[in-house]
Amino acid sequence: MNIPKEVMKFCAKCNKHTKQKISIYKAGKRRGSAIGERRHNEDKKGYGGQKFPKLAKPAKTTKKVTPIIMCTICKTKINKYGIRIRKFELT
Ligand SMILES: [Zn+2]
Repeated sequence: MNIPKEVMKFCAKCNKHTKQKISIYKAGKRRGSAIGERRHNEDKKGYGGQKFPKLAKPAKTTKKVTPIIMCTICKTKINKYGIRIRKFELT
């Protein structure tokens, strides 16, 4: 699916249609020293550590992508709801 890089859309802050840039959300790098990560590693240790089975046959064949729409005038960013597509391309 081709996603346009720039679109004319309504901006709630500017209260008019403005040119807006589209990018795709990417998860940040996980830090091993973060408290949640350390706690999770501690929970998984030892007998009975793996609390849920790893998915062998996932039901979904696609992953969700989250477009981020940024107004070029006021720089407001809005995360849109995720859409399921197999392959995307910013054009
Ligand atoms: Zn704006």
